[in-house]
Amino acid sequence: MATDSRTKSEIVVQGISASQGIAYGTVFVYLQSDVEVPSYQVDEAKRIEEVARFDKALLTTRQQIAKIQDEVEKNLGKQEALIFDAHLLVLEDQALIGETIREFETTGRNIETCFNKVSSRYIQAFSEIDDEYLRERAGDIRDVAQRVLQNLLGQAENSLSKLAEKRIVVANDLSPSDSASIDRSAALGIVTDSGSKTSHAVIVARSMKVPAVVGVRDLTKRVKTGDWLLIDGYDGLVIVNPSEQTLFRYGKIQSEKKSFEQRLMDANRQPAVTLDGVAVTLQANIEKVDEVALVKEYFAQGVGLFRTEYLFLNSARIPTEQEQFVAYKTVVEGMAPLPVVIRTLDLGGDKPMAGNPELFSKEANPFMGFRAIRFCLEHTEIFKDQLRAILMASTHGKVRLMYPMISGADELARANAVLAECKAELKAKGQSFDEKLEVGAMIEIPSAAATTDLLARTCDFFSIGTNDLIQYLLAIDRGNDRIAHLYEPTHPAVLRTLKHVVDEAHRAKVPVSVCGEMAGDPVLVPLLLGLGVDALSMTPPLLPAVKYLVRAMKMTDARDLAAEALMLSSAEEIYAKCEAFCRSRIKLD
Ligand code: PEP
Ligand code: MG
Repeated sequence: MATDSRTKSEIVVQGISASQGIAYGTVFVYLQSDVEVPSYQVDEAKRIEEVARFDKALLTTRQQIAKIQDEVEKNLGKQEALIFDAHLLVLEDQALIGETIREFETTGRNIETCFNKVSSRYIQAFSEIDDEYLRERAGDIRDVAQRVLQNLLGQAENSLSKLAEKRIVVANDLSPSDSASIDRSAALGIVTDSGSKTSHAVIVARSMKVPAVVGVRDLTKRVKTGDWLLIDGYDGLVIVNPSEQTLFRYGKIQSEKKSFEQRLMDANRQPAVTLDGVAVTLQANIEKVDEVALVKEYFAQGVGLFRTEYLFLNSARIPTEQEQFVAYKTVVEGMAPLPVVIRTLDLGGDKPMAGNPELFSKEANPFMGFRAIRFCLEHTEIFKDQLRAILMASTHGKVRLMYPMISGADELARANAVLAECKAELKAKGQSFDEKLEVGAMIEIPSAAATTDLLARTCDFFSIGTNDLIQYLLAIDRGNDRIAHLYEPTHPAVLRTLKHVVDEAHRAKVPVSVCGEMAGDPVLVPLLLGLGVDALSMTPPLLPAVKYLVRAMKMTDARDLAAEALMLSSAEEIYAKCEAFCRSRIKLD
């Protein structure tokens, strides 16, 4: 099978473990579409050929779009397929094409450079127009332009949604929409040059149950499509051209892990109750409607976080109120009678909406910029569509509504005022909704943590988003691999903040869950529970290990662990203590 890999020497590269498991197979190198467009002068003698190359790329693009349009019409319907008419029109836009040719005739630079220059100018111009329809055209031009450039650069097959065969995807970076579009049936594993454990793309990989290693720096430059690769998602290793011995060793590791995972899966049918009889609520995080089956397979006690922005990320346009209602209703009905926490849009940051560049202009600090509730409170028409859709879905099961990135009581009041408007509008139309719908806030900005008591006055529940809370508290960009080692969930500042939030919330009788990645890490679970957290929500495949640990520990011991940890000054020491606690109760490897 690996004849090629046996003849070349093995290279081991250390990255960051992002999703557990072992994968072995051939590589598919994916470079994000805004790869550098090469720029060079074209020989006088080759100018006619260069224009012909452009014509051919336009024709190929037209054929590709027509094919996608056919498929969409077959699978989703005529209406959905209409979007692609606008894309086809871009290819017929004589101004865009004529200007590209003129640019080429004047400068003699290669056609990719000319097309990139002219199309970028068009995208910029359209995105600044004060007319929604025309602004949407900017997204169409961008999509089509990327496709034409890929065809010119011979990268047309660089599509993650249709891998020709089972492959390990090696990418320089993956946007959340890239990862959401990955062909789940053919991706054996994922490796990225950049990224960290809590980047959104990685969270998606984890939910796909494929091994992933991130932060492998320049791997895309060291491997090419077709090379053999082994990824060890347990220890964050990537092995290029693994030797026979390595394959044998990993074969053994894999079968041991598999039998341990089977043990965990068997135990997962049991209730999540500690040895001293304390029941713990374990829920699931989802990004897509079709993940409900996975949530059930792992016996989660509801959905603790539905990241609704993923409905938007892969769409060329904003989903309508009705489309959102259908999506939410499907999840809510699928989970009933168990609860579903629907989080309102958390677009922006590292989750801009690719199809709508006019909504998200480039920012120097996107994580601290125009994202989530800030975006919603400015685009109230988008926010209200979503709130009404959630309200309407609330009669189909048990819904809880949650706002992301709340920074304080004023912002919460503004969001609630918009919600009240939506309720009044529905009432006026005679549309029913759950009048007792619980409304909560994520605690993921330090200012929200510091004002937990004030927020508790108008919140039914809190969910701590440790992914963001840690990045803001420690000033560590959660997606930056250079400083990933400084991203410390056991930093004393994190512990103190968590304790403060839980204590203040409980004083006001408001329950607190954790839905950041910390909640799915068995090493950190006893600490969270010991600090008094009421529920944990995580990527479904992480549930069995967490439940196994909950069933193997006493809550009194977890409280002692948290009390001891709070007295320590070193993140490393606290982590070691948590690790020892976990290891003495279960053997995870
Ligand atoms: C978090 O920040 O911990 C969280 C759960 O939200 P997200 O990862 O979607 O930002
Ligand atoms: Mg967050």
